[in-house]
Amino acid sequence: AQQRDLLKIVIVGHVDHGKSTLVGRLFHDTGSLPDGKLEAIQAMCDQRGLPFEYAFLMDAMQAERDQGITIDTSQIWFNTDQRDYVIIDAPGHTEFLKNMITGAASSEAAVLVIDAGEGVQEQSRKHGYLLHLLGVKQIAIAVNKMDMIDYDQAKFDAIETEYRAYLTSIGVTPTYLIPVSAREGDNIASRSANMDWYQGPTLVEALDSFEDTSLPVDAPLRFPIQDVYKFDERRILAGRIESGTLKVGDELLFSPSNKKARIKSIEAWSVPEQPTSASAGASIGITLDHQLFIERGELASHVATPPLETDVFTARLFWLAKDPLTVGKCYTMKLHTGECQVEVQEIRTVINTDTLSEGAGSELQRNSIGEVVLRARKMLALDGYDDVAATGRFVLIDNYNIAAGGVINMTGYADQRDL
Ligand code: GDP
Repeated sequence: AQQRDLLKIVIVGHVDHGKSTLVGRLFHDTGSLPDGKLEAIQAMCDQRGLPFEYAFLMDAMQAERDQGITIDTSQIWFNTDQRDYVIIDAPGHTEFLKNMITGAASSEAAVLVIDAGEGVQEQSRKHGYLLHLLGVKQIAIAVNKMDMIDYDQAKFDAIETEYRAYLTSIGVTPTYLIPVSAREGDNIASRSANMDWYQGPTLVEALDSFEDTSLPVDAPLRFPIQDVYKFDERRILAGRIESGTLKVGDELLFSPSNKKARIKSIEAWSVPEQPTSASAGASIGITLDHQLFIERGELASHVATPPLETDVFTARLFWLAKDPLTVGKCYTMKLHTGECQVEVQEIRTVINTDTLSEGAGSELQRNSIGEVVLRARKMLALDGYDDVAATGRFVLIDNYNIAAGGVINMTGYADQRDL
């Protein structure tokens, strides 16, 4: 059987705008609920004299997972005809940002929920902005609780105009705005009979139209070397292919050492036969046509599509440590499989995540975002986050703790190079 596509999504929005209800609906209307689950919740509600809430479904599933056998308690799954989905928990925006930016959770698409009665709120803007900062480009905006405003097109249009204008102002190309009622099930998995005026996709259709970007097999090859195994004469370079595809016979460039060699063989641990090619997502080893001294932390690419090589670069940091970041301080940077000391050369802008105001600043306080220039002690092989997420993201370590998550700002780098 063909392996099914999997898309990671995150659901964000102001509290009470209907996120849990929407998730409950998505599960129910796509037929993804375990048998008897809905009835069990309904019986529980009857017994306690509570009105039925789709949000209870999620609470119940959450509770089961908390005591259950599932390894990863922050993920829940549903499926459509097209593919499987996993919903990444977004407990609060700080937590969410931290997880996203450190790579602990990375979502490829987002559903942003706006209450049609309340309209665009501060949180709606903030979430849009944060998704933008994180490079999440596939965003479906669910304008929820349309039943509470009598499925009024004029009110929906006003919200759409306002929010699209906001997204455009921060440089986001708006994707879908969909009028829905999570409670009634309008435009979730099936087209609403209450909103003939709406011609766009349902929420499920919008999600199904998003691309799976987690395994970028057609992107430039990025194979960070995790380990080097030595068997008598032979050396096997092992790691996970983060993007692209490699084949036996391909000429590889190792950065930043700038050494080249051809792939003699591919060693896969999980299959009996030696494969002749391997793609993003695969953990493999390779042998080369001649001996090279390669260390962990080197990045293999094809010769024609190398990563950037630099010791000074601009990055957006999300600061997590108690002690603020200041110019001149040094941290350990972990970038794909490598590690290096970096010094803070300059703080260009500080973004307050509460007000979203941008300004100058001499330090970066906990939970704020800043654009900084970092100088590494040696040359690094890296990418702009927008080009290759896996090699464009890093963390800074201070005293064994994660002090910040960062994404490499390609434009900033290009600016510097032109100087
Ligand atoms: P969350 O805090 O964003 O997860 O919001 P919840 O899903 O808990 O919903 C908050 C409240 O809004 C609950 O009382 C829901 O029943 C109600 N709600 C959610 N979606 C809808 C909707 O489409 N229509 C109506 N009328 N109420 C809704």
